Amino acid sequence: MCPIESNLQHVRREIDAAIAGRPESIRHPVTLVAVSKTRPSEDIREAFRAGQRAFGENYAQEGARKVSELADLRDQGIEWHFIGPMQSNKAAMVARHFDWVHGLDRLKIAEALSRNRPDLPMNACIQVNASGETSKGGLEPGQVLGFAREMAPLPGLRLRGLMTIIENTDDAARKRAQFRVVRERFEELRNNGFTVDTLSMGMSQDFSPAIEEGATMVRIGSAIFGART
Ligand SMILES: *Cc1c(COP(=O)(O)O)cnc(C)c1O
Repeated sequence: MCPIESNLQHVRREIDAAIAGRPESIRHPVTLVAVSKTRPSEDIREAFRAGQRAFGENYAQEGARKVSELADLRDQGIEWHFIGPMQSNKAAMVARHFDWVHGLDRLKIAEALSRNRPDLPMNACIQVNASGETSKGGLEPGQVLGFAREMAPLPGLRLRGLMTIIENTDDAARKRAQFRVVRERFEELRNNGFTVDTLSMGMSQDFSPAIEEGATMVRIGSAIFGART
């Protein structure tokens, strides 16, 4: 078995273990997005052969290139997630190549993406900054509902939920608290009539606590493909 395949199996087992540790009411399935940024298309192909379908890329040009290189996997069910920060001049490229966008926090970008999806709407998650770090993108938690109301009418986007990148810390309680802030905003959206179903949170270092706090989607790179250089 190749390392990517065995890493995938290991990660999937840990995801299942974290799901089993949740209260019954939130024991729903979790989608694994394999984050393939900086990795060659051949690695993605290998993960695909091992059953992986959703892949995440951070850089518009690099991602667009891989989507094109792997175009033959399109009708076999590969799914592309854009998870990086975005400049508005890259919006058209992202809208053309990707199925999902995870880091929405500016209306101008949302509008540009929407304009470039005349047919099938793009799945979208609003990014929340739960740690308050100024280095991180995302809206303050209190801005999420207002932003959701502004972007909801855009025809080329379909709001699926929220995404976050928490602080890099060893303090387990701090991690849990930040994930919880995002889940509470997710529930706020639901309570206000939004039919959202996606809570995109958790990376290689923190996906277990994210799942325990209700994540429905985790974005995992180095635990699958190895450390990035
Ligand atoms: C790189 C990245 C990931 C994956 O990080 P790992 O630590 O390699 O699992 C997940 N989400 C975002 C937004 C990223 O940029």
